[in-house]
Amino acid sequence: MTILDLGVPSVPGTSDTAADRPSDARLVDRYGRVATDLRVSLTDRCNLRCTYCMPAEGLEWMPTEQALTDDEVVRLVRIAVEHLGVQEIRFTGGEPLLRRGLEDIVAATAALTPKPDMSVTTNGLGLTKRARRLADAGLDRVNVSLDTLRPERFAEITRRDRLGDVLDGLAAARDAGLGPIKINTVLMPGLNDDEAPDLLGWALAEGFELRIIEQMPLDAGHSWQRDRMITAEQILASLQTRFSLRPDPAERGGAPAERFLVDGWERPGGGPARVGVIASVTRPFCGTCDRTRLTADGQVRTCLFARSENDLRSLLRGGGTDAEIAAAWRVAMWGKKPGHGIDDPGFLQPDRPMSAIGG
Ligand code: SAM
Repeated sequence: MTILDLGVPSVPGTSDTAADRPSDARLVDRYGRVATDLRVSLTDRCNLRCTYCMPAEGLEWMPTEQALTDDEVVRLVRIAVEHLGVQEIRFTGGEPLLRRGLEDIVAATAALTPKPDMSVTTNGLGLTKRARRLADAGLDRVNVSLDTLRPERFAEITRRDRLGDVLDGLAAARDAGLGPIKINTVLMPGLNDDEAPDLLGWALAEGFELRIIEQMPLDAGHSWQRDRMITAEQILASLQTRFSLRPDPAERGGAPAERFLVDGWERPGGGPARVGVIASVTRPFCGTCDRTRLTADGQVRTCLFARSENDLRSLLRGGGTDAEIAAAWRVAMWGKKPGHGIDDPGFLQPDRPMSAIGG
């Protein structure tokens, strides 16, 4: 059966046919990859205005009726787990803590069999109130985004003076047992690129795992420039001014982060402390990608940089069965490209910015 047989609308450019697809219940693609890690965006809205992500006035937000309801999100997550072999779920956005029903979505996801590994990527605002409830609902851990430890820089980068609230949120997440906690940091020239060693020293002392992410061409303003981004090489050189790092011998699998052991430091609970570098631009890891993405309005994306999407929401709202939705999702993933194409001469940034895709 093809996606056209199912009446699923698709964006031009999507691979609509799966005549050559083997009979496999999982989310396989033409390049031998199997997607088992689902990123679900729960909203395109955010309560920060990071300068590298969106303008001060925000963006034109998705109308409520277009966004999936909590029940619709849970149904798609259930189909992913029960029919498609998804094992890991990460809720993201926009800012997923802005979603009132997050605890209910987490609880329903935790009740699935087999229970997926479940995390949330958040800016940390609101965690003081909700970390315990999220842990009680079955959330395993959080990744918190933090680009600086200096209050005035935080206000400059995010356009909100709320560093203290993020740090309080992190403490609440740790108290609630939502670990191991990872800290996601983007370094930008002239803004915070001198802060990598301070951030690592702080993360090690707090028992968090720092991951520094190369800035990608996903900003709403389309102003990303390759020669203005801080590369993995620069990140590592900066960290090594203060720390001695060794490649982590552990199997990396489909993980985006290249991990390093930090000599002389231990993780809470034992074992060597680590730091990760996510070098999507200069050291891409598409060949081992195991991710599939769902936007807040129910579109499957095969990649952050995909130029096309497959519409599960229409199928869901049009009365599609679980089996039909699963089939459409399989066809979408069969069309996943071998790589993100940032280095291709004709590379075009996706229309949706990071905040609307789900980072
Ligand atoms: N609001 C949540 C948060 O702050 O973690 C989730 C969404 S946010 C888009 C997810 C992550 O994407 C954050 O760590 C953010 O710094 C990162 N990010 C945003 N734009 C980016 C870009 N152009 N390149 C790399 N990372 C980016």
